[in-house]
Amino acid sequence: MTHDTSSRDSLLALFGGTFDPIHYGHLKPVEQLAKEAHLDRVVLLPNNVPPHRPQPEATAQQRLKMVELAVQGNPLFSVDDRELKVDTPSYSIVTLETLRKEYGADRPLAFIIGQDSLLTLHKWHRWEDLLRVCHLLVMARPGYAERLDTPELQRWYDQHHVEDAAKLKQRPHGFIYQANTPLLDISATEIRQRRHEGKSFADLVPDAVERYIESNSLYTK
Ligand code: ATP
Repeated sequence: MTHDTSSRDSLLALFGGTFDPIHYGHLKPVEQLAKEAHLDRVVLLPNNVPPHRPQPEATAQQRLKMVELAVQGNPLFSVDDRELKVDTPSYSIVTLETLRKEYGADRPLAFIIGQDSLLTLHKWHRWEDLLRVCHLLVMARPGYAERLDTPELQRWYDQHHVEDAAKLKQRPHGFIYQANTPLLDISATEIRQRRHEGKSFADLVPDAVERYIESNSLYTK
């Protein structure tokens, strides 16, 4: 696949997740981040979870459907289901390298993660290659430490960190930007928990996602 590579200084961001289900803790900070960092488009990438990890409760198709419903009619977002189309586990670096090839070497690309993911990034497959392929945009998340685990990791962060979002369009990859996004104490775990307990979760997801969860009796067993 090839994509429009004409606008060197347009910034495309990828946002991977299990999205079991997608919720406002994903969507609202990303919308704010898009304004702050002048993102042209955010591509949502639902993950295929490796067999040795706890499996999502909803099927891949259900998670994809919820992601699609959540962003329907919102031109900021598109959905890429490539990781769900294969049987192999998703490694973000592998998908990002493929996207890098598709968009060409010059196009600024960014990968969005929450603070919790930043804190465990050093356990990801080939994590040190990520900044050779994209920028990292980090969204704050309540309850997670601000500093990385070890002085060495913190040094890595400090070396790549930029304050000015405008820099993200000046290079295709290599920077870490900490977003000033709203702190939303929402997790998919909490939504599944509320469903198991028969409690309302309508305040945590878009209406269309709520309706889909209800009508498919998701997270009830
Ligand atoms: P679970 O509770 O099942 O672990 P989750 O709510 O953390 O799920 P994921 O799909 O695992 O959701 O998250 C995808 C990405 O979104 C991760 O990078 C995660 O850090 C980020 N993220 C999730 N919830 C929030 C939130 N409330 N604020 C900021 N980032 C978030």
